[in-house]
Amino acid sequence: MLELWEAEARADQLSEDLIQIITKRLQDYSILAQPARAEILKELWVDVTRSESGLLIETPFDKEKIPITQTDPETKDEVSEEEPSQVSESEVTNIPVKEIQSRPRTKTSPSGASATNTPAALNAPVTVLHGVGDRIAQTLSRLGIITLQDMLYFLPRRYNDYSRLKPINRLSNSEEVTVIGTIQNITTRNIRNGKAQLVEAVINDGTGLLRITWFNQVWLARRLHPGMQIALSGKIDQYLGRLTMNNPEWEPLEQQQLNTNRIVPVYPLTTQITQRWLRKQISQVVEYWAPRLQDPIPKSILSENNLVDISSAIAQSHFPDSWQDLKAAQERLAFDEIILLQLGVLHQKHLWQDRKAKVFTIEAGWMERQTSGLPYSLTSAQQRVLSDVLTDLGSGRPMNRLIQGDVGSGKTVLAALAIALIAESGAQSAMMAPTSILAEQHFRNLLDLLVTTQESGKQFSLNPAPIQSSEIRLMLGSTPESEKSQIRSGLEDGSIKLVIGTHALIEDPVQFANLQLVVVDEQHRFGVRQRAALRSKGECPHLLVMTATPIPRSLALTIYGDLDLSVLDEMPAGRQPVSTYLVMPRDRERAYHLIRQQADAGNQVMIIYPLVEESENLETRAATEEQARLQGEIFPNLKVGLLHGRMKSDEKDKVMSDFRQGKYHVLVSTTVIEVGLDIPNATVMLIEGANRFGLAQLHQLRGRVGRGAQKSYCILIPDHPGAGENERLRAMVETNDGFILAERDLEQRGPGQFLGTQQAGYAELQFANLTNVRLIEKARRSAQKIFANDPELTQPENQLLASALQQFWRGGRGDIS
Ligand code: ADP
Ligand code: MG
Repeated sequence: MLELWEAEARADQLSEDLIQIITKRLQDYSILAQPARAEILKELWVDVTRSESGLLIETPFDKEKIPITQTDPETKDEVSEEEPSQVSESEVTNIPVKEIQSRPRTKTSPSGASATNTPAALNAPVTVLHGVGDRIAQTLSRLGIITLQDMLYFLPRRYNDYSRLKPINRLSNSEEVTVIGTIQNITTRNIRNGKAQLVEAVINDGTGLLRITWFNQVWLARRLHPGMQIALSGKIDQYLGRLTMNNPEWEPLEQQQLNTNRIVPVYPLTTQITQRWLRKQISQVVEYWAPRLQDPIPKSILSENNLVDISSAIAQSHFPDSWQDLKAAQERLAFDEIILLQLGVLHQKHLWQDRKAKVFTIEAGWMERQTSGLPYSLTSAQQRVLSDVLTDLGSGRPMNRLIQGDVGSGKTVLAALAIALIAESGAQSAMMAPTSILAEQHFRNLLDLLVTTQESGKQFSLNPAPIQSSEIRLMLGSTPESEKSQIRSGLEDGSIKLVIGTHALIEDPVQFANLQLVVVDEQHRFGVRQRAALRSKGECPHLLVMTATPIPRSLALTIYGDLDLSVLDEMPAGRQPVSTYLVMPRDRERAYHLIRQQADAGNQVMIIYPLVEESENLETRAATEEQARLQGEIFPNLKVGLLHGRMKSDEKDKVMSDFRQGKYHVLVSTTVIEVGLDIPNATVMLIEGANRFGLAQLHQLRGRVGRGAQKSYCILIPDHPGAGENERLRAMVETNDGFILAERDLEQRGPGQFLGTQQAGYAELQFANLTNVRLIEKARRSAQKIFANDPELTQPENQLLASALQQFWRGGRGDIS
């Protein structure tokens, strides 16, 4: 009877879902005892009446469907195969917040949509969602999704355009489309000796037939039936001259279409979560919450900048109605990020600009006298930047200056001159470097530059030298406590004029008698807050920041908006450019040959091996093994040293100073060696796994050689010979200009590359593309306007903005410099 009925029902165009419900409910009817039969009929009646009232059809995720999937043993297959997380569709309802419907808690009234409209409700953990228990919540947390808010802002990685619906007879190869049709037949067969299964279906849409195959999804053959109408989305392929679709996304036609027939979001996944499941969860959170979001950006700013409101931005960035809507949504989210960044930075600048600072001026002839002891004259770029610095120091307001200059452009001597001026009047300076190796190097260089010739035995220094060697101290985390306390008291009584150190300087309870200048080298490793912390050690000291990272203008405007910018755009004369070669792994021996030659000639070599982003342990292991291999097999006659981040800092220092003194010919290192390191005798920089680095970072590494008079080489060895991936690296061969490389890097890999993603507290911008100068300038103008009217954001219309700002910076996201 059932079979007959099914055929008639189709002929009568009953909905496919309803047909499925009825046939499934009744399939065991004949073998059941009478009470069970009665039970089934009762349930069936409920289903049918619901279906008539439209519930079943119009609300596909309605909880009312639960009994069907739960009592159907076959759909369990789907749960276990497609959704191994035990997340079955049946657990899902269209009400995203449990409290609202089923489990009112004290704070939330059962009907109280308004109570949950507050942004605070968005901080609820995802476990408030139906179908999300602790285990799934844990899985989601791996994606960074902890709260509902996180889910709202968990944006697709990309989108598939299945919005173009096409009749089968007009399909062509390799287009991405959606096809709607009826399943004509569906079969499963074993392939590869039974190791895999293929589900094959033929779809008929009245204009033609299309063959569909799914690989290893046997459950589909049970779920899909001939006669069923479905929507399929995917890419058209060709097989034996006929068009096919492989592993398409599909949906029964009645469902609200999340997976087909639209621009479909593709989210980043983790194991145990499927695309379909996540889409469904997110769509429900978005559907409920997006319209209820309160917009932090004042309306006037939105309309001035032609931006969509936050509700639409969130909704459209998940499930865009069109590419245009998506673009508008993305622009809005990016705008938010940049304006928050700008507002924070403006706030900092505002705080500092209002302050008074001590005035330091030079008398006539000071510069000439100071630099007369140097073996070179300053480049005109150095002179220009120095005059910016001297103007700041004499202005009575605290200097806030960033000196940006490529590796080797001669920043150190400028810092030394500023320090000299401060020291002359008996005040103190502090210099911070990102690593102890670099701090030590600065210590040595500044001793050379600042201390009297006779005393240091050096031929060249600033003249007359303003500081005694005992007045310059180095303070690292590893400095023995006894020495630290000595330094502390020297700083406190003012007898130490310059202290050089790492983060330890900020963290240490050091007090200065009269700190007037803070120099921060390799700026991108410190954030705004760290700059502020160091500053707070003095009474509004001058701040000089130096970076070798060539920051494109758009980026500089955004993240260093609190600093004034001076660019050192000229290299000292007579520098030989480093010859750079891209060498394929199979030709490694040629690189080794060059290394042997150079070592024989008395030069030194650095080998960077390689960047393992996920784990410093792996990185360390790789470098350690490489050192053993090189020493044992490749360069048995040379001394090969090893440096990695897991070494204690005194071990590192030992290796570095041994290398500097020529005790090793070759130094194998992880990227700890990266910035600022100065070994004039090193002529070869070999970088293994070069494809894993950004261009700006490679350029930094390359800058470690070519610092002496000798001809130097940089050799890049990528992991694989694959041409496409390595194309990027050609830029390194073509140019020695850090700015060009940085611009390319920014285009190709985004800003994270040279902002130092490995730094704690750093988080990359999620939406904004910092190459988008137009948007950045828009946001900047708006930020300035808001700031000009209401610098403390105390006015009522800026309240939401103020809390968004706080959240943004508290989460560390603003602190990207
Ligand atoms: P960076 O800008 O990378 O910190 P440094 O300050 O370490 O560069 O300078 C690199 C090298 O160039 C140093 O050995 C320094 O003595 C030298 N140098 C600096 N200024 C000049 C100049 N005007 N002419 C020649 N050499 C210079
Ligand atoms: Mg330097």
